Amino acid sequence: MARYRIGVLECDGIGPEIVRSSVSVLKAATGDGPALDLAPLPAGLDALQRLGQALPAETITTLEQCHGWIMGPHDSESYPISERSKRNPNAELRHRFDLYANIRPARAYPNVPALAPTMDLVVARENTEGFYADRNMFLGSGEFMPTPDVALAVGLFTRRGAERIARTAFHLAMARRKKVAIVHKFNVLRLTYGLFLDVCREVAKEFPEVEVEDFHVDNMTAQLVRRPGHFDVILTTNMFGDILSDLTGELSGSLGLAPGLNAGDTHAMAQAAHGSAPDIAGRGIANPVAEILSTAMLMRWLADKHQDVSARTAAERMERAVLRTLESGVRTGDLGGSANTEAFTGAVIGNIGRE
Ligand code: ATP
Repeated sequence: MARYRIGVLECDGIGPEIVRSSVSVLKAATGDGPALDLAPLPAGLDALQRLGQALPAETITTLEQCHGWIMGPHDSESYPISERSKRNPNAELRHRFDLYANIRPARAYPNVPALAPTMDLVVARENTEGFYADRNMFLGSGEFMPTPDVALAVGLFTRRGAERIARTAFHLAMARRKKVAIVHKFNVLRLTYGLFLDVCREVAKEFPEVEVEDFHVDNMTAQLVRRPGHFDVILTTNMFGDILSDLTGELSGSLGLAPGLNAGDTHAMAQAAHGSAPDIAGRGIANPVAEILSTAMLMRWLADKHQDVSARTAAERMERAVLRTLESGVRTGDLGGSANTEAFTGAVIGNIGRE
């Protein structure tokens, strides 16, 4: 039987609530395999307070030995000022493990109110470059201030970065409705987005069955509202992908439904698209769907990487159980329901048992 070592990092805000929920659902879905060796690891504010580091060295060393991990959100705003200039745990892990593809699906569900009930798409976001100053440099920050009144930001756009996220996006499209929309801002950032667009179009030639369109990012925000059902895979850069995936998550029902996988060539990290939601943290009312479905994405990634049917079966069980639970009308408060995190999780696990 396949065996996977999976790190579990609860992190901040609603992290402990949604990560615990996801782990319970994962355990229920893998009852007859694959075998899981779950490794709880310190990270976030709690680790900072207890161990002096938001991402302790032992956590990183253990993650190197893991096949993948489940990560909660971080709330770096709550960290002491001295910590805020450092990379937060999330950015540090994306950078260190070269998790270059951030895959963020957004789909509406039956019986769940949504502004865009026809939406069913995936955002493929480049995750290591662009204007994200905390991860686009080998050393130092991509943001700096030559005088107290002048601030500069450096953007990084490489052929390799564009090529690998483009290939990820086109492979995704081949398994879906075979459509890719490239999102850029070539009209004002002609060199950087010119390179990104050119490379994406070159990669597109390897996938002649896939229909390709391209949009300026401002136009894309309007198009997503006007015809949300039109889009299949959105291929874009780091910052645009971050912004667009909040929009697509909310349009398809709630940010609490929007999962994410941060994938590299050797490791992958399951992490919901939303943040730490400090306004509802600790109240037991967070929607765990995004984190549960992120965990299912991790199982699918492991299934593909290790040619393992049992990991795929576990992912499908988790996805079907979430779908059934939502269809049956059990919903958390963000979706207009009254179930708390525990009750919702219990309903999902009950639906796995009913298969
Ligand atoms: P970040 O910049 O760290 O991604 P953010 O500024 O986008 O974070 P979030 O923490 O994602 O903000 O929260 C935005 C809003 O969505 C908040 O009102 C929060 O309560 C709500 N929200 C986010 N995730 C969930 C969830 N899982 N369940 C219920 N509500 C959520």
